[in-house]
Amino acid sequence: MYFIAAPSPLLNECDARVCHKPLRLWYNHATMEPTNARLTHLPFAVVDTPLTDYALDNLVDGLALLDADDRVALWNARAAALVRLAAVELLGISSDALLARVSAQSTQPADVRVRLSAAATALDEKPVEFAIARGAHEGTTLTARFFPVRDENGTRIGTGLVLRDVTREREADAMKAQLLSTVSHELRTPLASIKGFATTLLRQDVKWDEATQRDFLRIIEEESDRLTEIIDNLLEMSQIEAGALRVKPEPMQLRALIREIVDNARMRTEAHYFITDLPANLPRVFADARRVRQVLRNLLDNAIKYTKAGAITVTCEVEDAHVLVSIADQGDGIPPALLDKIFERFYQVDGASTRRVGGSGLGLAISRGIIEAHRGKIWAENGHPRGSVFRFTLPLAPVEPTE
Ligand code: ADP
Repeated sequence: MYFIAAPSPLLNECDARVCHKPLRLWYNHATMEPTNARLTHLPFAVVDTPLTDYALDNLVDGLALLDADDRVALWNARAAALVRLAAVELLGISSDALLARVSAQSTQPADVRVRLSAAATALDEKPVEFAIARGAHEGTTLTARFFPVRDENGTRIGTGLVLRDVTREREADAMKAQLLSTVSHELRTPLASIKGFATTLLRQDVKWDEATQRDFLRIIEEESDRLTEIIDNLLEMSQIEAGALRVKPEPMQLRALIREIVDNARMRTEAHYFITDLPANLPRVFADARRVRQVLRNLLDNAIKYTKAGAITVTCEVEDAHVLVSIADQGDGIPPALLDKIFERFYQVDGASTRRVGGSGLGLAISRGIIEAHRGKIWAENGHPRGSVFRFTLPLAPVEPTE
C-alpha cells in the first residue's frame, strides 16, 4: 500500500520498502512505468507499512487517487465496499472508465455520469450525490467529491476522490421534514378548533345560551389538552432519542395500577368492555409507576381507538425474572409486516381507522422508549382469531430478605 507524502530526508535515508504489489500500482511519472524507484525520484514517497495499509482501508470514507495521467492509483477497501467495485477491477484504468463504472452502480447511471464528469473537471469539491442501485448497499446515498492533489510547489500531480455514505444524514433530513409537517399538521387541527370556538363565543351579534357557551368552552379545554399532549409527546420523543429519558424504578404493585387504568378507560368508551386476568399473588415489579401508567394508558387508548367494539383483555403472567403484561383487542389487527414498524416514531398504518381517529404516531415509539429504559421489551402480535395483542415485560422487584 502507499504512503503518500512529500519526499523527506527521513524517508530518503530510511530503509522503508518501496514496493508495488499486484493490486497497488505506482507509476514513475517520468517513464509511466510501474516502478520501484528510490523515494528521492518520486513525487510521492511510497512506503509499504501495515499501518498505512490498514489506515487507508479502515477510513470511514472511500478514497481513490488518480495519478497525473488520470489513472486510478489507489482504491481503498471502503470505496470498494460502497460501490461494489474491487480494486482489482479498477487500478490502472482511466478516470473516464472509473466514472463509467461508478455511475453504472447508481440508480441513474446516465445522469450521474454527466454530473461526476463535470465535478471531476471542475475540481471544486462540490459533492455529487447519488443512490446505489444494487447489492448490500442498495438504497445507500453517497456523495462523491473530487479534489486536486498538489505537491509542495502547488503543481497538480493527481486527483483525489472521496466517496462518503450520507444515508444517515439524508434520513435525518427526511425525519426533520416529516417532524415539521407532522407537528404543524397536528398542532394546526386543535388550534383551528380553539380559534374557531373562541371567535364564535366573542361574536357580538349572537347571544349564546349558557349551555352552548359551556359546550364551546369544553371543546376549547379539550383541544388545549390535546395541544399540551402533543407537545409533551414531542419533548418526550426527543428525550428518548437523546438517551435522556430518566425512569425512577422502585418496587411497585402492578395489579392496582392496571385496575386503575382499566377503570379509567371504561369511562371513555361504551362500545368496548374490559376483562382483566391478574393473578392475586402477582409479585411486585421494579418500575416507575408514572411511566408504566403512561404506557398502559397509551395501549388501552389505542385498543379503544383502533377497534370499533368488543372485548379488551388485560392479562399479567410471571415469566422467569419478569412480569409479562398483554393487552388484546378484537379489532382488524395489524398487517404482519408492520408489527414492528408501528413502534417507529410517526409511523401510522395507512388505513381508514387511523385516518378516522387522527393521532401523531408517537405513542408506541414513546412506550417502547419507556419500557426499554426499564430493560423490558415491548412488541405487538396478531390475535387469534382476530385483533392485536400488545405485550410488554417489566423486571421483577428484588426480593427483600426476610428477617
Ligand atoms: P397514534 O395512535 O398517535 O397514531 P401510535 O404510535 O400509538 O400512534 O400508534 C401507531 C399506529 O399503530 C397507529 O396509527 C395505528 O395505525 C397502529 N395501531 C396501534 N395500536 C393499534 C391497535 N390496537 N389495533 C390496530 N392498529 C393499531
